[in-house]
Amino acid sequence: MNIGEQAATHSESSGSSRPFLFFFMLWSVIIALAVFSVGALKPPAPLPASAPESEFSAARAFAHVARIAHIPHPLGSAADAEAREYLLAQLSQLGIQASIFSGLGIDPTAHLVVAGKTNNVVGRLPGTSGGPAILLMAHYDSVYRASGAGDDAGGVAAILEILRAIHTGPPLQRDVIVLFTDGEEAGLLGAEAFAHSHPWLKDIGLVMNFEGRGDRGPSLLFETGMNNAPLIEAVARVAPHPIGSSLFYELYKILPNDTDFTVFRPAGIPGLNFAFGEGLESYHSPLDTPQNLSLSSLQHHGSYGLSLTRHFGQLDLTSLRNAHGDDVFFDWFGSRMITYSQSWVLPGQVLVTVLWALLLMLDFRSLGFSKRRFLLALAACIAMLTLTAVTAALGWWLLTVILANHRILSDSPANLLLLNGLIFLSACVCTLALSFLRKRLGNQHLLLGALTLVWILSWAFTLYLPSGSYLLFWPLLLALLGNIVVLARRTSPGTEWSSGLPALVAAVLLFAPVVYLVYVFLTLQMIAVVTSAILLALLLLLSTQALGLSAGAHRGWESGTFAAIAVALLVTGAALSRYTPEHPRPDSIVYSLNADDNTAVWITYDQEADEFTGQFIGATFPQPHPVPNYLAGLARPMVSGTAPVIALAPPLLENLEHTKDGNIHRLKFKVRSQRNAEVLLLRFPEEIQPVSVKIAGRDVPIHKGGRFGVTLYAMGEQGVELEIAVTAPSTVSFWLMDRSYSLPLNKEPRLANLMGIDGSDESYVCRKYTL
Ligand SMILES: [Zn+2]
Repeated sequence: MNIGEQAATHSESSGSSRPFLFFFMLWSVIIALAVFSVGALKPPAPLPASAPESEFSAARAFAHVARIAHIPHPLGSAADAEAREYLLAQLSQLGIQASIFSGLGIDPTAHLVVAGKTNNVVGRLPGTSGGPAILLMAHYDSVYRASGAGDDAGGVAAILEILRAIHTGPPLQRDVIVLFTDGEEAGLLGAEAFAHSHPWLKDIGLVMNFEGRGDRGPSLLFETGMNNAPLIEAVARVAPHPIGSSLFYELYKILPNDTDFTVFRPAGIPGLNFAFGEGLESYHSPLDTPQNLSLSSLQHHGSYGLSLTRHFGQLDLTSLRNAHGDDVFFDWFGSRMITYSQSWVLPGQVLVTVLWALLLMLDFRSLGFSKRRFLLALAACIAMLTLTAVTAALGWWLLTVILANHRILSDSPANLLLLNGLIFLSACVCTLALSFLRKRLGNQHLLLGALTLVWILSWAFTLYLPSGSYLLFWPLLLALLGNIVVLARRTSPGTEWSSGLPALVAAVLLFAPVVYLVYVFLTLQMIAVVTSAILLALLLLLSTQALGLSAGAHRGWESGTFAAIAVALLVTGAALSRYTPEHPRPDSIVYSLNADDNTAVWITYDQEADEFTGQFIGATFPQPHPVPNYLAGLARPMVSGTAPVIALAPPLLENLEHTKDGNIHRLKFKVRSQRNAEVLLLRFPEEIQPVSVKIAGRDVPIHKGGRFGVTLYAMGEQGVELEIAVTAPSTVSFWLMDRSYSLPLNKEPRLANLMGIDGSDESYVCRKYTL
């Protein structure tokens, strides 16, 4: 009997003798490992205010959060100014010379021109020697519907506490620049104003930004500057609780999200970006209060900031700029970060390919092996992966239908149960499919087909998402080695399953945190559910050796148990899925007055009425239809209802100059809100396209195509001067609208289980101008 033949006989025959208890134990270990690896993704315990002076204390930092985030403080508001004064006072108490840097910020990425007057708080703690400085950054403004404790008073407070702790120790060699930006929420405006014209930009050798997109959970290293290898290695070595992964960083790059850090990327400044993201319902919502903010998340921000500032504060940062290459990184058992150069990814994949070819050769040599069956098995594994994803997607769709009117869009306990229910449903389908395939194709063919599929996917990662390649690389490497060990050595019958264990353990420990983080960041959306199902199917394919020995005998039991668990979790999750003060139903209502014909409407972005919005539009919503006369020409269908006309003074335009050169109109005018509304908007019809735009003397970039418009934040009562050149067929006609952060009349306030979303509870006044 040759080696392959012997191994083939082992894997085909030995399984049915495995006792029921064996599989029960194995699955319990898998689930326990998954729970453990997700549980390890937790922030450190907060230190009390009595902690040693040299340490970061979340309790001390929280005092700042309570002050900054006691009420909403959007760009341009009185509360924003109050927060600014508080920050200046705090910095001066720390002996740091600080000042306000005012300037017009723009958002160059927005299709429309977005600009605003910002007031950044900037300070500098001098080091003992020169050289590039460290920039610590967070934004102090909030959206107007949120007090902004997590987003981003937490980041600001962490920096103040970091500076205090640094002050107690020996001075650093490098300067530390503090930048508390304004107008981040309006489009990274303060950071842009700083990067555009502040003389200190050229001094910066390293940026660290702190953000919050929720109110709890670990602070993740989710973004870095280019050539991050030396930074990542320092984080892994120096930070006490490093959590983050290069896969997440890669996924973040694909998503349209931005933070102030984005502004510094084009300058090529090395940097690290940290954010916590559990409790998505708090993001830009009235739930983002100091009471709801996790002190552990605050401590986690501080643990990175203090350790890394102390570390880099004594290093020559010029080497960071000259560094080359990115690292692959991921945390392991929480708080332990594995890093290696991305340049190892391709050689690693070549090694895996050699091992795969060796396994293929050993299999081909074995008796009873059929190439046709192997190809069938490969096709069947692809089909099984697809089937699992489709099942999860269908399950999710069914849930959204059942929970139509009480679906919570967050990482709530109910949604965690529902997600796990869908994962167990996927496990049921996967184990049934694998059992069927094993009977038809034989364990050996199935095993090779499964690993071949993972090997193909691993190549896709290597080529297209190299920094995420670790996810499949390590389990695949271990699975191939495990199989080769079985085929090359004469293992005694019934023990070859144990050679598959390392791959199984690696896959569980790497996949479970990804499933959890995708769920936290995307909530229970189809993409999160499908990602979970695909990772589960891949886990089972990678673990065919360890799990594949039951060959039919216990499969019914296994799938049946998963189905029962799935039903129990789904039913409980669905029952718990209801709106409460902790998980309020989001709703929206805005008022809009057309000052030309003196008519007004209520508008909502919701699909169905609740007790609050019903007061404005009626208990049954009418069909959505466009209301261009109330939203500056916007053609999107909206649910609206007639509103009383309330005497709100419309925004004003003062024409200063208008010249015409062919079809190019050069306009110079001043716009202002008579009611001191926070935002001014100009919207042009599609046939009018921009040639150039200057706002308050600053040239701003424009994007052609689509509707041209300008959105202006915090221009104050005096307004702002614009110089705009446009191409227009004849006259220039456009909408001028202002937007204020309140409703013009009071109705019964919302019950505790309802909350107004970001963009709700606002008043618009619009009118048309023809020049
Ligand atoms: Zn933010």
